[in-house]
Amino acid sequence: MIAIISDIHANLEALQTVLSHIDGLGIHPIYCLGDVVGYGPRPNECVDLVQQRCQFTLMGNHDFAAIGKADIAYFNRYAQEAILWTINRLTPERKAFLESLPFTRVEEPVLYAHSTPINPEEWNYILSEREALYYLDRVSQRVIFIGHSHIPVVFSEKEQPFYQEEPFRLDLENNRYVINVGSVGQPRDGDPRACLVLFDPDQATVQYVRLHYNVEKTAQEILDAKLPAFLALRLKSGH
Ligand code: ZN
Repeated sequence: MIAIISDIHANLEALQTVLSHIDGLGIHPIYCLGDVVGYGPRPNECVDLVQQRCQFTLMGNHDFAAIGKADIAYFNRYAQEAILWTINRLTPERKAFLESLPFTRVEEPVLYAHSTPINPEEWNYILSEREALYYLDRVSQRVIFIGHSHIPVVFSEKEQPFYQEEPFRLDLENNRYVINVGSVGQPRDGDPRACLVLFDPDQATVQYVRLHYNVEKTAQEILDAKLPAFLALRLKSGH
């Protein structure tokens, strides 16, 4: 069994809750699909935990921006303000770790990416079945796990897009999938609980897990850090 996490966004409370849950289930390894930092108040601690605990971590657009490589002109003003704050607080050692992150990883028949499997550094979003199929047609893998939109959803060739908390089985012989694992530290599907995915590659089963964490604590840390108050509010609403 593999635990897949993404879009932690320097939310230490959410990350610790997710890691304790994974440990409680005795699950390893843990894969991280990126955006360890950005928006949230505890970037250094989150980088350390991810570096210690995840078998691999991929590059997210906020990680890329935090090492000065992404053009933040296309970020909204809250994201811009937060990334400038983050750049000033990340230590050189943490930046060096973020510098080392790859954009994609393949473990047949699965491809892992933060944004898209092709031209990942363009940071495009996969938000529809049509876009999911565009990418599935351009890679040889039958399953692509992604993050980036913070919205947990399963796109496939033969089914309607869906999200459910009950476990489900992938039909790897007849279908192909793009699975967004949702966000640990800033969910945007209207549910403020931290989101992660448990994936069993042997049984081809997938399960979304949602976990309550101390949202109030992270929200207060955002205010204390003088990050935009909107970033605290959105954690409480899950939008
Ligand atoms: Zn993100």
